[in-house]
Amino acid sequence: MTNYQFKIEQIVDKIRETGAKVVGLQFPEGLKVHATDLASRIENETGVIVLISGDPCYGACDLSDVEMNGMVDLLVHFGHTPLPIDYKVPTLFVEAHYRLESMEILEEAVKYLEGKDKIGLVTTTQHLHLLEDAAHFLEESGKEVIMKEGAGTLKGQVLGCNFSSVHDLPVDAYLYLGSGNFHPLGIKLSTQKPVIIADPYLNQVRDIDEFTDRILRIRFARITRASEAKKFGILISSKEGQCRWELAKELKKMIYNEGREAYLILLDEINPPSLLPYMDLDAFIVTACPRIAIDDSKMYGKPLLTPQELEIVLGLREWENYQMDEIKY
Ligand code: SF4
Repeated sequence: MTNYQFKIEQIVDKIRETGAKVVGLQFPEGLKVHATDLASRIENETGVIVLISGDPCYGACDLSDVEMNGMVDLLVHFGHTPLPIDYKVPTLFVEAHYRLESMEILEEAVKYLEGKDKIGLVTTTQHLHLLEDAAHFLEESGKEVIMKEGAGTLKGQVLGCNFSSVHDLPVDAYLYLGSGNFHPLGIKLSTQKPVIIADPYLNQVRDIDEFTDRILRIRFARITRASEAKKFGILISSKEGQCRWELAKELKKMIYNEGREAYLILLDEINPPSLLPYMDLDAFIVTACPRIAIDDSKMYGKPLLTPQELEIVLGLREWENYQMDEIKY
């Protein structure tokens, strides 16, 4: 049995309410294995034709609404909450909730939070439904839990490109409920406060500090290497929620003002093969998803930098003032 809950009834209700005849389904990578099973259940229950998006999908920034426009009456997008974007087809966002067997992981996390009274509780979309119980558990353990909505995010929710729900929270530490290190890294770098991870997938509690040090060392090396660069490629995404065209033009001007060359390159998917024709350039600036430069940097032969890292390269920002890249919607 899967540990995810897909809310089939909600989808069936929406199909009946809208009278949709053709329905698109879009899943993030980790949930695609459930696509055909869900398609079959939806087709059997409602009689619609289902079209599954087979392209990679990383977030609500990357909907297949443009590709499916004119083909489907309704798009069902799993695993993310909507962004303030003008989507091209009616879209139902279905949060795929991860079922947590118990709150045991939080008992362990509380030990890591000893001496910290005010806790900022944070998570990603898959675990939003657990926040209330988790907050209750922490309060029973004597902690004060503080959460707020962000700009474009729900209470306690962060995205890999949006940490506004933790900016300026009056807390002693953050507890991140979820998997992976990228989101806690972003919380750490944007708040400079202790961040503890309660990871229900690995059933493990850990501190983000060691990972943060490792990433900062790698980033420092990339920035140092890019300092010698004469020619930059500025990568712009054609995905509607990742396209920062104005920023890209500003960066081009900034680079020229510092006496170096810059070229604007528009891409749908940013990956090593797509950059192969541009190996005459010395470094690339990613204005698309901020995770690409940080998470995938090892895969590229040339340094990939965030816009803030470019400022350090050009001497316009101090290394001590390092900041995560965020997308403002
Ligand atoms: S831009 Fe990146 S981090 Fe932001 S929502 Fe899209 S995939 Fe997630």
